[in-house]
Amino acid sequence: MGKCGFCDTISTVRAAIADTWRPIITGGKDMRSKTAVQIALLSGAASLVGCTQGGKTGEQSGAASSGGELPEYIASFDQESVIGSPTIVDCTLSGGEESQCVSITVGPAPANQKIGPFCPRNIADGPEKSGIWLESAKVYDADGPFIERLAQFYDDPDFTLHDISTGNIRVTDSKIACEAAARPDVAEEYRNYCVECEVSYVEEGATQTYVIPLTPVNAESVSPRVSRSGVGLAFSGARFDAPAPTDAILAAHTLAPFDDCGGHVNTAVGYHLHAATDCLLTKDLVEGHAPKIGIALDGYPLLARLNLDGKEPEDLNMCRGHDLEGIGYHYHVDEPGSNAILPCHTGQTGCALSDPDAKCDASADAQRGPPPRG
Ligand SMILES: [Zn+2]
Ligand SMILES: [Zn+2]
Repeated sequence: MGKCGFCDTISTVRAAIADTWRPIITGGKDMRSKTAVQIALLSGAASLVGCTQGGKTGEQSGAASSGGELPEYIASFDQESVIGSPTIVDCTLSGGEESQCVSITVGPAPANQKIGPFCPRNIADGPEKSGIWLESAKVYDADGPFIERLAQFYDDPDFTLHDISTGNIRVTDSKIACEAAARPDVAEEYRNYCVECEVSYVEEGATQTYVIPLTPVNAESVSPRVSRSGVGLAFSGARFDAPAPTDAILAAHTLAPFDDCGGHVNTAVGYHLHAATDCLLTKDLVEGHAPKIGIALDGYPLLARLNLDGKEPEDLNMCRGHDLEGIGYHYHVDEPGSNAILPCHTGQTGCALSDPDAKCDASADAQRGPPPRG
């Protein structure tokens, strides 16, 4: 994938604002652990699989631009995470609206974010060698001592991931193991494993193309949940995924920890977030309000959970959106334990495609019914 001409434009903008990149400041209250993980919100536990669809390799879109100007927020993306040039494409939104969308392609992992660690290797390993786990609205270090007391934690004597005599923790250590353990129907031999996958397991050249309405169109009826295409895209280039159900994973006595940034890896799309944390960088502070951290799949801005004064806006709707003069309609991501970065979208959503050349028809996606696991 070559460099794009458009990137030069972005570079200029970026250069002007580069020094304002900063971590999001979040409240992080009521977290029992993790050294200031300060998760602004996140979703619950998760099966690695099926958090998302797809996984096909694809060359960067040759999709013809059908005119129109790219939205300003494109300049807010970490350019190193963006593959090729964003373009304007025709699209069909989830409610059937024929529209124009911006198409932006990212790789299986954000370029400038440390990924992992996830599973500790021994029950003596501390939080610096471990990720986090989410349960009942709380964030826990998924460190050695946590793994050691899983049986008590879940009140289930069979929930043991370590060898009692050595303290070594069973961790998936290959692509085959990670896929077998991350399936919804966990392979028998990978029950009682700590599950982690590496970005290198993702098929080479795999991308995800986000097709996001240029002009948001409100949905006639708000879907009660986020679709398989997920919540949206962080400016870091990381995918904000749909909630991840805990049932399947826990039933198989597996644990699929998130790293301290609230993400983990599957082999279909790579790294994806079930939480928005202070790992996310933003350079777009909305004056007197909250930092912008990404774009939702319906085209509305995604802002950090808390305003700069440390408070959450009080007038958020069921999808955590509100309208403010000067800013317009936007969302604030949810708090820890909600098991959703956003519970829903109020606008018609676009697509997240594994084939950059595919046409986005989110209405077809919606008709296919509920997916995944997550
Ligand atoms: Zn996941
Ligand atoms: Zn707001």
